[in-house]
Amino acid sequence: MGAHGHGSHHGHHDGHVHSHASAPGPGPAAAAPLAEDPGQAPVPSGTWTCPMHPEVVRAGPGQCPICGMALEPRIITTAEEIANPELDEMTRRFWISAALSLPLVALAMGEMLFRGTSISGWPLVWGSAALATPVVLWGAWPFFTRGWASVTARSLNMFTLLALGIGVAWLYSVAVVAVGLVAPEAIPPEYRDHAGAPSVYFEAAAVITTLALLGQVLELRARSRTGGAIRALLRLAPETARRIEPDGAEIDVRLEQIVVGDRLRVRPGERVPVDGTVLDGGSAVDESMLTGESIPVEKSPGATVTGGTVNGTGTLVVAATRVGADSVLAQIVRMVGEAQRSRAPIQRVADQVSAWFVPAVIVIALLTFWSGG
Ligand SMILES: [Zn+2]
Repeated sequence: MGAHGHGSHHGHHDGHVHSHASAPGPGPAAAAPLAEDPGQAPVPSGTWTCPMHPEVVRAGPGQCPICGMALEPRIITTAEEIANPELDEMTRRFWISAALSLPLVALAMGEMLFRGTSISGWPLVWGSAALATPVVLWGAWPFFTRGWASVTARSLNMFTLLALGIGVAWLYSVAVVAVGLVAPEAIPPEYRDHAGAPSVYFEAAAVITTLALLGQVLELRARSRTGGAIRALLRLAPETARRIEPDGAEIDVRLEQIVVGDRLRVRPGERVPVDGTVLDGGSAVDESMLTGESIPVEKSPGATVTGGTVNGTGTLVVAATRVGADSVLAQIVRMVGEAQRSRAPIQRVADQVSAWFVPAVIVIALLTFWSGG
């Protein structure tokens, strides 16, 4: 790794070359022409935040410590579109859980609707346990980890309730089955069905899990779609630019390697890579991206151009004036992203409600359990 550094040519002092081996980040070697490492994708950079809690800022993907939602990148780059592992994972858990829960519901309904004609008693209990247990232990696993995280972070949220509800329903059922096997007479008759088997809540645990997973899938899918809108904006900027070196040579470099003052050639039909001032040449540029005006604007030396606009039939030589996060396009993208994430006033109400709702539900459940037993 880093071996490129020795081959890096003009513009760098020797001292930099000697120090390259210890530098972990993109050091001087990153300025090498694009052609040297065509397959290397840009490293995902920037910070991650919760769509509901902008104050949460993390260096990488994860879960919000307040509400447990999956974090999303604060600055979306075109590179992240390739995979959404969170969505893939939840989708897989949902489909498998749904496939196991459907027969479970059919079994439970059959027992209720056609008492005596469907399977009941111990076979129903064992069938329910076999179908529900993988759903609870594997399908609901993300809810348990987030529920536990909410407890350690002392920020109870919907995942606390989900983890408690699913976990208690399954644990209670397992315990009652164990008691029913060892000492069936210890279970009061009203907690047994007509065949003598204990009443269990396996199907409830599985159905809650499946529905909660469906909610996660729908939410993540909606969020990845809004990210897609921003990526469509980002794609307006080309990935590379043709830089004119001090010696007159022209090389294609990645957009993020352009610095203010670089001279860039914009060929006919290309998109202008960054904001800049025209030094040489003449062309008409389609700026409809910014203005909505479809008639191209004539550009001659001294005129300003904006990254993302489309050059016409002429060639321009442009001096970069604003690059990266300072460019007009980046500012548009940032504003769109902030608008999408900005917290509706109702969210504050939702936070306050859940701060009381979740503990209240737990207290009521505990009181019910003690008084009912
Ligand atoms: Zn959050």
